Amino acid sequence: MKRMIVAGNWKMHTTATEAAELALAVLARKDLQGGMAHGVEVVLCPPFTSLESVVASSSATSVRIGAQDCHHEHHGAFTGDVSASMIRALGCTHVIVGHSERRRYHHEGDDLVARKILAALSEGLVPIVCCGETLEERKSGATTSVIGRQLRTIMNVVGAERMGQCIVAYEPVWAIGTGLAATPEQAQEVHAFIATLLNEQNVRIPILYGGSVTAENAATLFACTDVYGALVGGASLKADAFAGIVAAAGEQAQ
Ligand code: PEP
Repeated sequence: MKRMIVAGNWKMHTTATEAAELALAVLARKDLQGGMAHGVEVVLCPPFTSLESVVASSSATSVRIGAQDCHHEHHGAFTGDVSASMIRALGCTHVIVGHSERRRYHHEGDDLVARKILAALSEGLVPIVCCGETLEERKSGATTSVIGRQLRTIMNVVGAERMGQCIVAYEPVWAIGTGLAATPEQAQEVHAFIATLLNEQNVRIPILYGGSVTAENAATLFACTDVYGALVGGASLKADAFAGIVAAAGEQAQ
């Protein structure tokens, strides 16, 4: 039995009103309640503008709310950005950092991701730290060297102790939003590599898998030794699908 975490990344979907409704629909699902009763930790990550309404919708539950990014500074002349302290002040507990869409569309690198982790931790937020290789990198046999570089660069800045307060999400870029999830064998291979890399520094934290997770494929992914849950994009916008994933996590949970 394992500690299991299922986080939903709603990306740039839902107005504040729609998000509150989706959260209520998710919370009402018996599958979700059953998974949580088995100890699955559930985190919903709506857009910044929907954080407050989702915090309110879920306030009577143990579901946690996270943001999808934060700035590395606490305040300042950074038009359009949102700081970890602002996120924390809304009642959030988690924040995704280093998502491949931030890396790709906002040119974020591992040094910046590390600084965001430090900002998040200093506000008491749990960073969900994303890493993963592109299809080209996988095809050229560079998967573990890419992920090793990403995580070592981050750990060199944040240090092992602080890394121990994070969650890692292995998200192969080629699997995100494509419907082409990693096979359990592919996921386990990389998760085992990440677990070993972290263990070298005595860091033992949950490693989530992300990339086209569905209610149908979740159980086989979660059965992998080093897979401790999922970061879910598309399927997290459908209450039934997300609840099904949480239920699958419940089968493995402590
Ligand atoms: C994600 O964006 O983190 C993700 C895993 O997306 P999807 O589940 O849609 O592949």
